[in-house]
Amino acid sequence: MGILEVKNVNKRFGGLQALGDVNLSVAERTVHAIIGPNGAGKSTLLNCLVGKLIPDTGSVMFDGQSVLGRAPYEINQMGISRVFQTPEIFGDLTVMENMMIPCFAKRDGAFELNALSAVRGQKDIIERAEHMLVDMNMIDKRDMHAAAMSRGDKRRLEIGMCLSQEPRLLLLDEPTAGMARADTNNTIDLLKQIRDERDITIAIIEHDMHVVFSLADRITVLAQGTPLVEDTPEKIKGHPKVREAYLGE
Ligand code: ADP
Ligand code: MG
Repeated sequence: MGILEVKNVNKRFGGLQALGDVNLSVAERTVHAIIGPNGAGKSTLLNCLVGKLIPDTGSVMFDGQSVLGRAPYEINQMGISRVFQTPEIFGDLTVMENMMIPCFAKRDGAFELNALSAVRGQKDIIERAEHMLVDMNMIDKRDMHAAAMSRGDKRRLEIGMCLSQEPRLLLLDEPTAGMARADTNNTIDLLKQIRDERDITIAIIEHDMHVVFSLADRITVLAQGTPLVEDTPEKIKGHPKVREAYLGE
């Protein structure tokens, strides 16, 4: 049994079958990549895991409990955190202020911008946020405006904000999209560090094969809403169906 078990999940948008009988098992403390061409259903699948979408049929179990029908914040409290395709940080706030918000949410169960004024003098929140920034290797940027940072550092901050929730499963939707090579490599190193140092499972949707092959223990190839093949990176690399369907050969 994996920490995440997706069984026979179907999702239609009107006449379009975005997901067709998706089965996926993600083993605990592994990095599992989901790849596939644009429109394959990757983001739809992720949305079904975090309560943003509800599948038409099928089941999604996390650590033996169903996530279906639960609100996104409840699923977050169960231990699933998600990094979106576009970094969700507050550009007008400093790096430290950004980090204080989820630290506050972890303590008090709320994740709101207007909570910020309430937490500004609270020692435990400040210490926790500083600790996370040290962990993320960005304490030197604590007073910088988040908007002024590079794409890679924004992503680093956002991942740190997710980790402050102490998730057991971290979901990432194309975390290196739109990044320059140096930022991509920094993100790979960060995810390697997280994988090695934390008791965590990572499921990553990724377009960049360099990222996938640098990180993944298992790869599921999704094509037209259905898993085509699941295997180790070595096997996936040579798989004729994958080369044809995904790499366009
Ligand atoms: P991927 O992330 O693999 O690129 P998506 O999961 O975003 O693919 O989309 C899968 C298919 O579902 C696409 O054809 C897309 O246009 C469609 N789709 C996604 N979200 C919606 C939606 N909210 N309403 C209608 N169609 C959607
Ligand atoms: Mg997508």
